[in-house]
Amino acid sequence: MTDSSASSHPLPQELLRRLPSVERVLSRDGISPLIDEFGRALVTEAIRDELTNLRARVDRGIDGPRLETALRDIGESVASRILTAITPSLGPVVNATGIIVHTNLGRAPLSDKAIEAIVRVASGYSNLELDLDTGKRGSRHRHASQLLSRLFPGKDALIVNNAAAAVMLSLNTFAAGREVVISRGELVEIGGSFRVPDILERSGAKLREVGTTNKTRIADYREAIGERTGALLRVHPSNFRIVGFTESASTRELVELGAETSIPVIEDFGSGNLLPLARFGLAAEPTVQDSLASGVQLSIFSGDKLLGGPQAGILIGDADAIGACRKNPMARALRVDKLTYAALEATLQSFLTDKAERDIPVLRMLAAPASEVRARSEAFAETLDKSTLQFSVEESTSRIGGGAAADATIPTAVLAITKNGVSAESLQSALRASDPPVIARISEDRVLLDLRTVPVESEPALRRALENLEARSKS
Ligand SMILES: *Cc1c(COP(=O)(O)O)cnc(C)c1O
Repeated sequence: MTDSSASSHPLPQELLRRLPSVERVLSRDGISPLIDEFGRALVTEAIRDELTNLRARVDRGIDGPRLETALRDIGESVASRILTAITPSLGPVVNATGIIVHTNLGRAPLSDKAIEAIVRVASGYSNLELDLDTGKRGSRHRHASQLLSRLFPGKDALIVNNAAAAVMLSLNTFAAGREVVISRGELVEIGGSFRVPDILERSGAKLREVGTTNKTRIADYREAIGERTGALLRVHPSNFRIVGFTESASTRELVELGAETSIPVIEDFGSGNLLPLARFGLAAEPTVQDSLASGVQLSIFSGDKLLGGPQAGILIGDADAIGACRKNPMARALRVDKLTYAALEATLQSFLTDKAERDIPVLRMLAAPASEVRARSEAFAETLDKSTLQFSVEESTSRIGGGAAADATIPTAVLAITKNGVSAESLQSALRASDPPVIARISEDRVLLDLRTVPVESEPALRRALENLEARSKS
């Protein structure tokens, strides 16, 4: 906005004198509802900021009438300043990328049951650390572990903040001040800032790298084992794949070596698929059950990837190994809160009752056939105003994301959007500026919307965002 100084009659000094004091503004009629709503401190600060802003505008040459208007509307300016200042930085977005487990977008949306469980536990007190049978102090660690023991008979479990924390805890428990043997091919960086070597070293364990990036044989592990070996670690290189001339020891071979030398084998799975991915038409990836069946002492995975639950790191394995981790004081620092347990238990219940594919959004999205996504996209496109934007429904691929099944793609249909004379980047950023923001991807200078990751309930928000693009480009 430019403040033209058409009338230079009132001198700036004179205009500045027209500015009221903070106290004067505070006592205006329109301001007291703001004080009721936001509190005196925020309102006072916003008035001060607004007066500073008006002083700067006078310096830049604002004329008398404009200053009068600004002073008349000061209540609105103050309210909008406060709203900007207190708007939470975290909020919902529409994920139209087709990437189901999108770490930047908060990974797994929770099931209705998990959300209900959170509300139930959050709105009052709970038996988080109370044994209801004895009335004595109980351990919070029993909560989700009971259900996990049902899912994985004979195994015990422990929940911590996330998978990175679980890796750190397990290595600290078994290999602090000792060595952890890992293949060079698995010293990877997964997603944002999970660098296996860094986490390993912070656990107090010393890295003993074996093999080469593309080939690590069981003999390489065997040679590295010595007095100081605390654990054998296997990390699933879940977001990339080394292809071609490769070889790696099987988990079973590692387990045999571990048994022979009495060294625990820890497997970091990441994605935590409990259901075989083949069920969704995807290439087979080992499941958590496979990992445990091969005999590893500990298997680790995330709660908010393919499990479709809250952020959590799940350690599951032999009772001795889990017990040792639980006793580690570090477990106290990495523990989860009651909301996480509530959501996780509800999520696990869906698996126990064979309702996972129905209840859990991540699995529903994974299971949706391309024909269904196409039908939804076509029906959605029908309802759009097409005067300035062009839409077409095309074949494309969705991805699991989140370091799960690296190269697995799922056939899908996308809504491709173009607008004459406007770059895809501009359309993409205009969608991101919508309320709620819509996150889309770009291919060949077109914006692509994949409804696989957009729940039906979010379609109106998506439609509004597109209508605003239309409206903006018409004016
Ligand atoms: C995603 C992933 C992690 C990190 O999981 P967080 O729960 O985000 O800490 C660790 N290891 C593997 C193999 C992963 O895929």
